[in-house]
Amino acid sequence: MGQTGLDQDLVARIASRLGIRGLVVDSNEIEPYESSARHGSGRACAVVRPATLEDLAWVVNELITAGERVVTQGAATGLVGAASPTVDGTQWILSTQRLRDVLHIDPINRTATVAVGFRLSDLNRQALEHGLTFPIDLGADPTIGGMVATNTGGARLIRYGGVRENLLALRAVLVNPAGQLVGSDKGLRKNNTGLDWTQLLCGSFGAFGIVGRATVKLHPVQRQSATALVAVESAQVAVELACALEQSMGEFVSAFEGMSDGALKAVAHHQGQSVFAEPAPYAVLLEVSSAVATGTGLDLESMLMTWLENRMEQGGILDAIVDKPAQLWRIRHAISEAVQSQGPMVAFDIAVPRSSFASFRDEAKRLIEEFVPDAVLCDFGHIGDGGVHLNMSVPLDTKSTAIESLRVALYDAVVVKFCGSFSAEHGIGPYNQQFYDRYTEEPLRRVCSALQSQLDPALQLGNVRLGGVTVEDWPNV
Ligand SMILES: Cc1cc2nc3c(=O)[nH]c(=O)nc-3n(C[C@H](O)[C@H](O)[C@H](O)COP(=O)(O)OP(=O)(O)OC[C@H]3O[C@@H](n4cnc5c(N)ncnc54)[C@H](O)[C@@H]3O)c2cc1C
Repeated sequence: MGQTGLDQDLVARIASRLGIRGLVVDSNEIEPYESSARHGSGRACAVVRPATLEDLAWVVNELITAGERVVTQGAATGLVGAASPTVDGTQWILSTQRLRDVLHIDPINRTATVAVGFRLSDLNRQALEHGLTFPIDLGADPTIGGMVATNTGGARLIRYGGVRENLLALRAVLVNPAGQLVGSDKGLRKNNTGLDWTQLLCGSFGAFGIVGRATVKLHPVQRQSATALVAVESAQVAVELACALEQSMGEFVSAFEGMSDGALKAVAHHQGQSVFAEPAPYAVLLEVSSAVATGTGLDLESMLMTWLENRMEQGGILDAIVDKPAQLWRIRHAISEAVQSQGPMVAFDIAVPRSSFASFRDEAKRLIEEFVPDAVLCDFGHIGDGGVHLNMSVPLDTKSTAIESLRVALYDAVVVKFCGSFSAEHGIGPYNQQFYDRYTEEPLRRVCSALQSQLDPALQLGNVRLGGVTVEDWPNV
């Protein structure tokens, strides 16, 4: 069934240039594009799927000049609803998934220039042929464009940083002037010549332009790694362990993940087997790795064993499992699904300075007890960098007003009391726009507002308003 109200001349022009695979107008075929991984689903009037940078610029010009509204979508793995259309059915989805015209690896420069429809796994498959990797590591397989737009972090941020630290250049299409191509493919690590599009568009959640191509740093693949899963007395001991590991093994530390007793119990229940012999109040997965192969004098496994043995003598550690990295990471990656299998889940993606992690966690427990007393806290996350997935199972009949009250109180504690972030990794979207408006300092919002009105004066692009939302500019949230 076709969509009503579409400008048929526009549809014909797009169909003629992009071909049958480049345009979706049948509502059944549109439906898979209408929701994102977690929050956010709406209705779109059509989907366009350009396959080259030139076609991307052309179709943006056509849509914007015709007065249409467009939301850019990569793999829709974003968790704040920003890649989904609004509910009124007036937005076009611009899917980047066919934008796969360039994937060029320069092994000497250790860079890749990649069209944004490629997935992280595609890039890494090709990079591996040169002994290289794009080291942003997460439990989803997003597009490169979505990663740039959301400045994706991941489990190895403690070693490599997020996308922003690994992005050298990009090419993007603006909506003002409509279809204008900007940026470059320059693989320069040094280019100190003023502001550029790269850092302006990275982490702007699709609000300022559509990224078509990115040039990123690649790193040597890790040729040896050693991991341990360590049960500790408390979250405070976990943080102390992170500092001690960094002091001893420095740049070899590549991940330091935390898991609460609730998360461990959920995994045990899900897998039918306890992780540790005795229940543990908290646990950490720690990883050290190096591009230096084994057999060359560097033996990380025995270094880690020796460090652990010494550290255990100092107390605070209850148990430790040293096993193959894949085996231990499987436990870490099982948490999300295990918690969801327990029933309704509420999740908050927050960060605090590592030094406040334990006291923040106590405060979070107190707030959960106050607002949703029957919730079971199953938090986990990248505590090496202060990131926490404050996930909890809640009873089926939990009132949404109670969850909202908890969210408000929790974010206030995170941002105001603990100088943290209400969105550590997942960025800004309709799910948390109101908190962006609340916590972003006014001068910064004014600058963002000026940029947004320059780059998208009629608010035709996306569902994120970095200048802040008013009811008039965006009635369909
Ligand atoms: C299981 C799971 C685990 C995750 N783990 C992590 C994690 O560890 N760290 C982390 O940071 N995130 C994580 N995420 C969130 C998510 O994967 C990232 O935000 C991701 O990089 C989004 O990429 P995408 O291609 O799916 O983008 P989408 O979800 O399609 O889009 C996200 C946003 O980017 C915009 N956008 C997409 N492509 C472009 C483009 N080419 N130009 C301009 N704007 C664009 C969209 O409009 C939207 O605002 C996880 C998600 C899941 C489902």
